[in-house]
Amino acid sequence: TAASGGGLVAYADSAAESAPEPSQNAPKKKVLVLGTGWAGTSFLKNLDCSQYEVKVISPRNYFAFTPLLPSVTCGTVEPRSIIEPIRRMFEKKSKDVTFYEAECFKIDASKKTVHCRSAVGTNLDGNGDFMLDYDYLVVALGATVNTFNTPGVLEHCDFLKEVEDAQKIRRSVIDCFEKASLPNISEEEKRKTLHFVVIGGGPTGVEFAAELHDFLVEDLVKLYPAIQEFVKITIIQSGEHILNMFDERIAAFAEEKFQRDGIEVATGFRVVRVSDDLITMKSKSVGEEVSVPYGMAVWSAGIGTRPVIMDFMQQIGQTNRRALATNEWLRVRECEGVYAIGDCATVSQRKIMDDISMVFKMADKDNSGTLTLKEIYDVLEDICLRYPQVELYMKSMHMLDIADLIKGAIGDAHKESMVVNIEEFKKALSHVDSQVKSAPATAQVASQQGNYLAECFNKMDKCKEQPEGPLRMTGGSGRHFFRPFRYKHLGQFAPLGGEQAAAELPGDWVSMGHSTQWLWYSVYASKQVSWRTRVLVVSDWTRRFVFGRDSSR
Ligand code: FAD
Ligand code: MG
Ligand code: MG
Ligand code: MG
Ligand code: MG
Repeated sequence: TAASGGGLVAYADSAAESAPEPSQNAPKKKVLVLGTGWAGTSFLKNLDCSQYEVKVISPRNYFAFTPLLPSVTCGTVEPRSIIEPIRRMFEKKSKDVTFYEAECFKIDASKKTVHCRSAVGTNLDGNGDFMLDYDYLVVALGATVNTFNTPGVLEHCDFLKEVEDAQKIRRSVIDCFEKASLPNISEEEKRKTLHFVVIGGGPTGVEFAAELHDFLVEDLVKLYPAIQEFVKITIIQSGEHILNMFDERIAAFAEEKFQRDGIEVATGFRVVRVSDDLITMKSKSVGEEVSVPYGMAVWSAGIGTRPVIMDFMQQIGQTNRRALATNEWLRVRECEGVYAIGDCATVSQRKIMDDISMVFKMADKDNSGTLTLKEIYDVLEDICLRYPQVELYMKSMHMLDIADLIKGAIGDAHKESMVVNIEEFKKALSHVDSQVKSAPATAQVASQQGNYLAECFNKMDKCKEQPEGPLRMTGGSGRHFFRPFRYKHLGQFAPLGGEQAAAELPGDWVSMGHSTQWLWYSVYASKQVSWRTRVLVVSDWTRRFVFGRDSSR
């Protein structure tokens, strides 16, 4: 029941076999997808669209390969090379997929409708508003920038979130150089104009700073020799280190490389105000404010919630959150037929301690009121699938076997027999929930979620319609529930400029330097969504190697 709190989706094979085939004429269920970013397109790509009537809404009629956006800011890669038109992406499915270029401004879950607005006025009264209804809604709207309400940021800083942002940054960089080259400009003014500030030392900020540095030393200094001595790049980071989501070795490598390159890294500073020529920041340790003149500032410090998501969360009582909470099947809690994936959502993992009596009862096959080690082993796989924190906890405690966890809970007296009662079982698992982690806001997570959700939708027919059904563990063999979403981290890259990169790969494997950059080139070429963009990106890289970057505005 729903009361048991987003339990397991019952997936009974026997029921699937006897389920009647949907009749040829039965109307197809309507699936409405909001957003054509990483999450939305990966869902659509893997969905068997012939089963549904699919509609897609996005104000941009293309998909953008965001990991290459920093390369667009300096012309290493052309904007056209990293975007793929949505209609081309789903050309083969065009019979079953309808795309509308419009923005969704309101989700009304109680009426199962979505309100949209097109930029072109289509109605008689001259506006482009229209309404769509759905049976299933897939919210994949992504996130927006977060200024943390810092005064002046919206007015004076550039952002790096969309393709248009990257193009604008490219023009602004060149503008700064042209401006500093004009006659009658004082040295002080030149220094100010050519001071490029990056706010935020996460992967995007760091990669942009590295790109900019390459652009300066490889191309611009040759073209603007008279002003090269005035150029400066600064990264402002509020934390102790840049790239703090990576392994410490990578952060240290990046900081050393930037120091050699002359990129200033100001850590422990929070930007409190931005005016048209000064950035004011506050030292976290000393509390003192410093203001620095700048020519151009790029804000890449954190992600925020889109207004339409904020409004929707208010409606369904999810207040004071950054993202929509879903259960482990990516279903928005208490909201029928609504799913959320990607940066606009977070999975809230159920705590095992909330379900502990139920888990105990499931495992206790013989109703003896105690669990033997064998009874625990029989359901262990299911427990770990349902509550991944159990595995994470054992790993963090360097335990290979759940028996070690149990041993810690039961007194010496019956250590030999290894039988636990409910109190001991609770005690053994009491710290496990501390390992619940939310997945990061990355393309990797978004696309895995899109993939997974499509798989659920493709099997929807066969699944018994009991999505919030009771927890059912069968013990080993035939699994009677649908596998919840589980993020698989495949590693992460940080390009650092000068043909060097750092990478963190599964199994605590860290690699840094020139060879890692080549690994980066090959991985990013292979990840392109079509052969067309792959050829374009690779030829952009080649063109840059041979001729350098284009420095016209
Ligand atoms: P998005 O990809 O942002 O898609 C949101 C979609 O919703 C878009 O199509 C948008 O047009 C549409 N939309 C917006 N508002 C509306 C509306 N009102 N109505 C309808 N549609 C709307 N991740 C990595 O894993 N590796 C990287 O190297 C990496 N590099 C990055 C570099 C940069 C510069 C940036 C900005 C991000 C990077 N990311 C990277 C993060 C990654 O891009 C995001 O995590 C990912 O895009 C999230 O996917 P999404 O589908 O949730 O959102
Ligand atoms: Mg999306
Ligand atoms: Mg995207
Ligand atoms: Mg997310
Ligand atoms: Mg028993």
